[in-house]
Amino acid sequence: MSNIADNIKHILTELPEGVRLIAVSKFHPVEAIEEAYAAGQRIFGESKVQEMTTKFETLPSDIEWHFIGHLQSNKIKYMAPYVSLIHGVDSFKLLSEINKHAVKAKRVINCLLQIHIAEEDTKFGFSTDECREMLNSDEWKSLSNVSICGLMGMATFTDDTEQINREFHSLHQFFEEAKTTWFADSTHFCELSMGMSDDYPIAIKNGSTLVRIGSKIFGQRNY
Ligand SMILES: *Cc1c(COP(=O)(O)O)cnc(C)c1O
Repeated sequence: MSNIADNIKHILTELPEGVRLIAVSKFHPVEAIEEAYAAGQRIFGESKVQEMTTKFETLPSDIEWHFIGHLQSNKIKYMAPYVSLIHGVDSFKLLSEINKHAVKAKRVINCLLQIHIAEEDTKFGFSTDECREMLNSDEWKSLSNVSICGLMGMATFTDDTEQINREFHSLHQFFEEAKTTWFADSTHFCELSMGMSDDYPIAIKNGSTLVRIGSKIFGQRNY
């Protein structure tokens, strides 16, 4: 058995019911994804639209492609026909752009709103106040072809596990607030995407439903 298959098996034993694994395959070749696929993995995460689209065209059609990178609006059209979930939506403008391309592609595109929870200002996302403001404005409700399925966030890159815990906890609290305040009637708003190779156990303790794990499966990336 390959390392990749071993790594996936190991991680799966650590995930409770209701937590799904996204194998983050960015910068790794198609062959690595094929190994993961052979081990049963079907959800893959990518951070560049072009790279994801090439892989989508090459690999089996029952793969769910999740876009986890920072999204530029001029790239949406390439993935609109096939993407399963876009994790990093951080403005109403981007959401309405996605909607436009979803209409053209005759699909409903699932999206997560990215919330800025880290101390670093290099990470993208809405502040909770910006997000409240957008959701209060009601404009998003008229977007017929996007479905807001939950929230996504990244913790600060630090060894301080208490800090990571606080950040994931705050995201979970805002997730609960959003669910009761704006999505009480929605059956779709149920995903909380948080946790990466170094912090997913803390994310799971705080209610994550989607962990995005790259290096723990595929090894180090060569950028
Ligand atoms: C690259 C990336 C990951 C995976 O990171 P690892 O530390 O390799 O597990 C998860 N989420 C996002 C948003 C990423 O860009």
